[in-house]
Order: sequence, then C-alpha cells, then structure tokens
Amino acid sequence: MFASLHFRLWLTYLLILAAAMSAALLAMIVYLLRNPAVDRQEAQRLRLVAALIARRTQWLEVQPGINNPERLNEVVRRMDNALGVRLVVYGASGQLLADSRAEFLPPFPQQPFFERLNLNRARIWRDAEGTQWLYWVIPLEDGQIWVAATPRQRVPVLNLLRDEILPPFLRALSFAVVISLLMAVFVSHWIASPLQRLAQAARAASAGDFPKVDLEGPNEVRAVAEAFNEMTTRLQASQRAQRDLVANVSHDLKTPLTSIQGFAQALLDGTVQEPTAIQQAAQVIYDEADRMHRMVMDLLDLARLDAGTMNFERAPIDLRELLAASVKKYAIQALQSQIDLKFEIGDLAGEAPIIVVGDADRLTQVFSNLLDNALKFTPPGGQVQVSLRSQESWAEIDVADSGPGIAPQELERIFERFYQTDKSRRGGNRRGVGLGLAIAREIVQAHGGTIRADNRRMAASDELESGEAETGRGCVFTVRLPLSPAPQEMARRKTITVHPSEKAP
Ligand code: ADP
Repeated sequence: MFASLHFRLWLTYLLILAAAMSAALLAMIVYLLRNPAVDRQEAQRLRLVAALIARRTQWLEVQPGINNPERLNEVVRRMDNALGVRLVVYGASGQLLADSRAEFLPPFPQQPFFERLNLNRARIWRDAEGTQWLYWVIPLEDGQIWVAATPRQRVPVLNLLRDEILPPFLRALSFAVVISLLMAVFVSHWIASPLQRLAQAARAASAGDFPKVDLEGPNEVRAVAEAFNEMTTRLQASQRAQRDLVANVSHDLKTPLTSIQGFAQALLDGTVQEPTAIQQAAQVIYDEADRMHRMVMDLLDLARLDAGTMNFERAPIDLRELLAASVKKYAIQALQSQIDLKFEIGDLAGEAPIIVVGDADRLTQVFSNLLDNALKFTPPGGQVQVSLRSQESWAEIDVADSGPGIAPQELERIFERFYQTDKSRRGGNRRGVGLGLAIAREIVQAHGGTIRADNRRMAASDELESGEAETGRGCVFTVRLPLSPAPQEMARRKTITVHPSEKAP
C-alpha cells in the first residue's frame, strides 16, 4: 500500500501542501512582527515633529544656540507632553544635553550613533531594556542634534494568530487535504490504469500472444504504449520472418538436393550412359550446386547484415566509374541475349565525378543484382538502361528494363526475403532464390540511401490502345544515395578502384 502510486502521490500532495501553508504562515508572522503599516504611521508623525523643530516655530520657545541643560530639559519635557514624542538633544560635540524621558527610561546613548546615517528616514534603536524605538534625527544649524523618538508599537502576534488567522487557515487546510486526496485518486488512476494494461499486454506477449494496447493516459505513458505496440509488431514480423525463413530455406534446399541426388544416382547406377546425357546430368548437378552455393552465400550476407557484423568500408567512390564497371561486366551477357544495354549519364556537367562515401564492393553487389535481374527478365530485342543523375544532395541511379514489369501489389513485396513472383519461380536453371533484392535494400540503407521499384509508364495514348496501364513496359529500380558533402574535395583525393567481383554472370 505504501509503495502504491496512489499513496505516494497523495503523500507528495500533502508534503507540497504542508510546505506551501507553512511558507504562507511564516510570511504572515514575519509581516505581523515587522508591522510595516504601523511603523509607517509613526514614522510619518516623527517626520512632522522633525519638520516643526527644524523650522523652530514660535511655541518651541527655544533660542538658537541655547545651551543651558535645565532650560533645555524643561523645554523638551513640555514639548514631549504636547506632542507625545520623546525628544533627546545632543550638543555640537556630541554630548547629551537633554532627554525628555531620562528620569524613567534607560538613556539614549551618550555618543550620537547616527552621525553618518541617512537623516531623511526613521530608524530603529533598541535600548538597554529591549524596547525598540523608532527615531528621527534633526540636525540644527547651530550644530545641536535633536532626536525625536517613539516606542515601536508591538502587535500581539500570538493572539492574532490564534484568534484570527489559524481557524480559517485550518479550515482551508482540511479542504485542501480532501481535494488533494481526490486529485491523487484521479491522477494515479489516470497514470496507473494504462500502465497496468501495458503490464498485462507484456505478460501476454511473453506467452506468445501480441495484443495491441490503447494509447491513453499522460503523454509519457502513451509513448511507452506506442513503443510497446511498435515492438510487438516488429516481434511478430520477426517471428513470422523466422518461420518463413526456415520454411523457405528447407524448401529451396530440398529441390536442388533432390535433383542432385536423382542425377547422381542415375550416373552411379549407369542409367545414363550416353556421353551427352552424362554431360547434361553433370551440368544439372553443377547448376543446382551453384544455386545452393549462391543461396548459402546470400544467407550468410543477410545473417551478417542482421547481426550488424558486416563491416562496411567508408571510402569515397566515384559512381560514374563504379556503374561503368558494373555495366561493362554484363556487356557480353547482354550481347548474347540480344539486349541493348546502355549506361547514360544525366545532366552532369563534364567529367566531374559523382562521389558518395561507402563500400564499393557492396554497392557493386547491389547494381550487379539489379542488372542481373533486368537482363534475366528482359526478352531478346529489349533494352536495359542504367542512368545516373544528381538531385540536390542525392545521387540517383535508375536501372530500367523493358521486361514484363512487376504487378503493383508486388512492388513492395519483392524486397522481402525469399519473395519471388510466380513468373520467376518458373525460371529454369537461372532461377534465383529471392534474396538478392532483400540484400540490396539492406546494403543501400546501410549507406543512408533508399531503393524502390516502379513500373515504367506508357505514354497516355499507348495506354488507351493497349489497355495495359500498370505493367508490360518493364520496370525501373531507383537507388538514391547521399552525395558526399564536398565532392570536389573528395574528388581530389584518390577515388577507390572498383573490382567487379560479385555475382559474375
Ligand atoms: P531472385 O534471386 O529471385 O532474382 P531478387 O530478390 O533479386 O531474387 O528478386 C525478387 C523478385 O523480384 C524476383 O523473383 C522477381 O520476381 C522480381 N523482380 C526482380 N527484378 C525484376 C525485374 N527487373 N523485372 C521483373 N521482376 C523482377
């Protein structure tokens, strides 16, 4: 109960209340003790008396320069009677000459202690008995110094507190305690309920169920709920991906293995004896083993990308050079397939290099995969075109083909692991395994870039004639990579040489 949010909140409110009320009470007591309003009134009276004395009006009956102490004492006593103010007079050399109440009160000090004070305001002096005096200093022209003083009014603070202040104060306090209790219940409910639901959802998630939690409560709790929902979505996706991976890997290994086993068996038991048939069987075994090898290499790449253990080099790369080398690598294959393979550099002035920072081998792997797919899906007589342009701080590379294109609903899915469209599953011995684009996307993203696929659009008139709006004119893969901030500076440094190595056709 003491650890509950509800109790802690209430305790906090009570402590804040107690602190605020004590501070208010203390301020009130200090105010009453200092009593500035009464002091101000008295100071005003002293100022008037001081003005009267300074002007030496008729009734003052004091001649300037009078120094007879008896006469002076009599004068100040009479004035005290008339004005109700204690008057003390000092001579020019500081000696005490007269004091209207010297007989029954502790004396004012012998030495004037106010010589250097600002004379234009009332001050406080405490005498030997502890009485506080409010006094005003009046220097006269002949050197005498008069002091008009009155005892400070004391306010009966304790009585005032007990009778006037504490009762309403206590009523307010009890009201505030009740309000704070209600607030604590309300606020703790507001915070704790969504947290409890979150805890329940977390328990359900650990048991394999992934419920969504509602976003409610304060912003901070909402943020936790949002993060939780995001986490469960990812967890679900990763579980699904793991299941799919196992299923796909076993399926994709089973087919070539069966084929290898079958042909090897036929070779062993002498079912195939013709040299051409033996050659064909060996070729099938080789192709399938090659496919399995590629798949295992791809899986290794993906595993390293997932684990973050793939080390990406970070060196300046001239994309012109890198793309030219990739295109060159596929030139013979294109020629054999009767495909027109072109590399076009957009509106890029002169021979200026287009520099990005990254890993040349990995980027070559991305473009090799795109070119490999483009050539694979483009029929003889078609075209594959690679183009490079710069858009503000980005380098954009298109790999466009004139193949069958990709159905709109599959455009995003082709980047998923093991995703293959039906057309490509039937692809014979050049069949892939559906990992190339997944790897390409990971690599591009690791370079701070993006990759997307689109279908090439027809001219509007062609669309109407053929009725094929979405597919049929081939597709285009666009890779965007952030340009290095100072291309000229980078260009002056040595750009790395591209070694076309990955995915040799
Ligand atoms: P694969 O090893 O099967 O080529 P990818 O990940 O490279 O795997 O490609 C995934 C799927 O995307 C392919 O199976 C194919 O269906 C589709 N695809 C990729 N490139 C093209 C293209 N240029 N034209 C049509 N479909 C393509």
